[in-house]
Amino acid sequence: MHNLSKSKILAYRQCPKRLWLEIHKPELRDDSASEAAFAIGNRVGEVARQVFDPHGNGAFIDINALGHAEAISQSAMLLAEGSGPLFEAGLTASGALAYADVMLPDRSDGTLRWRMIEVKSSTGVKDYHRDDIAVQSFIAAESGVPLASIAVAHINNAFTYFGGGRYEGLFEVVDLTGETVDRHEEVRQWLTLAHEIANQPEEPAIETGDHCNSPFTCGFCDYCNRDKTFPDYPLGSLPRLHPNRRAAIKETGVEDLRDAPDELLNAIQQRVKECSVTGEPYFNAESAAAELAAFGDPGYFLDFETIAFAVPRWEGTRPYQQLPFQFSLHILHSDGCMEHQGFLDLSGADPSQACAVELIRLCGNKGPVFAYNAGFESRVIRELAERFPELASRLSAIAARLVDLLPIARRHYYHPSQHGSWSIKAVLPALCPDLSYDALDGVQDGNMAQAAYQEAIASETTGERKAQLKEQLHEYCKLDTLAMVRIWQAFKGN
Ligand code: SF4
Repeated sequence: MHNLSKSKILAYRQCPKRLWLEIHKPELRDDSASEAAFAIGNRVGEVARQVFDPHGNGAFIDINALGHAEAISQSAMLLAEGSGPLFEAGLTASGALAYADVMLPDRSDGTLRWRMIEVKSSTGVKDYHRDDIAVQSFIAAESGVPLASIAVAHINNAFTYFGGGRYEGLFEVVDLTGETVDRHEEVRQWLTLAHEIANQPEEPAIETGDHCNSPFTCGFCDYCNRDKTFPDYPLGSLPRLHPNRRAAIKETGVEDLRDAPDELLNAIQQRVKECSVTGEPYFNAESAAAELAAFGDPGYFLDFETIAFAVPRWEGTRPYQQLPFQFSLHILHSDGCMEHQGFLDLSGADPSQACAVELIRLCGNKGPVFAYNAGFESRVIRELAERFPELASRLSAIAARLVDLLPIARRHYYHPSQHGSWSIKAVLPALCPDLSYDALDGVQDGNMAQAAYQEAIASETTGERKAQLKEQLHEYCKLDTLAMVRIWQAFKGN
């Protein structure tokens, strides 16, 4: 019997077919979504070793350097000795294999036992963490490692980093000992069934469904959906469709939103349906213009690009706090002239204060500041105000001038090509087909902007590459605010 790793057992928990494919056809898996998560996990794991072993007495089992067999054998020796904390200790028993993030020796009752802590980069304990720790502690128990406690350590989002590489308090440790031990017999059954699936010659006949995206988007979706045909306008394109309503519509046998019964749709969903049926856009130009007429000139069009670190990098910041490293600002003057300004800091130092100062300088002190989904810009500006009290009143004044173009677009415009979305990337090509994010070189969305920023500030990035990334970021963010100007002009009737 081959050992099944913890990740394979958890793959079985999501879908037996996923486990089978992981083993027999791993080359079909799309891994692109997991790379960023992997990098975050590595950094969180690194800091966890520092936090749970402040004196540096522990041992790290480096599986890449040692290989599985040696990692398991060294772990067994160190677990028997109990001379200090162990990180990534290899455990194997009953046809299963796992590497424990943190094992802390505990001799409080006179014998050697271990406090098992699984480290997670989320800000709370999720249900799949409970499965994860149940599997891991089961393997430890089966292999004869006595456990004093079983816990999950997740990121404490109330933690503020005060510098100096000191991260005590970054993790919140949640004890799950009782409920986890109670699940060990359940885990034993999962393991038996998972082995049966792994050993069967044919792939299990399981249809795709909601389980393909829970708890994670499965990397085999393209493969499993390869022969399926999907409606041109799936029900999922109906905005804010409550799951119960969706289920009720599906019960009528309808898959395409164009056939959805009107009585099960609200007004905006009915508009989406009508535009999809006719192929014609909806545009209440008069109402859109009247709404925008309430805001005077000049007009500012603002968009931030932000970065959020699970492990805070700069003093005074919290985990996952959205910190602006760039903004783009188009200014439409009363005489109709348009000007573009912006801010971008790729030094790797905290860009926040310089960003705030530049924002204040460029935004003047009157006129609407348009943003798209302005709640985000409002939050970023308010957090800058909290961090820099000397700038707070001027930043708050800018936040008070924010006008959100998104709800205006939602109320007055819809094109069937938007497929139920009013994101700027959905509205722009419908309203202004001459402008396109697809034409941008490199960075084309917010996630790519964050990846470009991380690459640009990395010490190993060459000057040439950094200049290229700078140009890509500049062009991307500029397009975001130019798109807003063009949407505003179209709505205003200019
Ligand atoms: S895509 Fe869905 S059905 Fe296919 S393996 Fe993944 S979870 Fe299972």
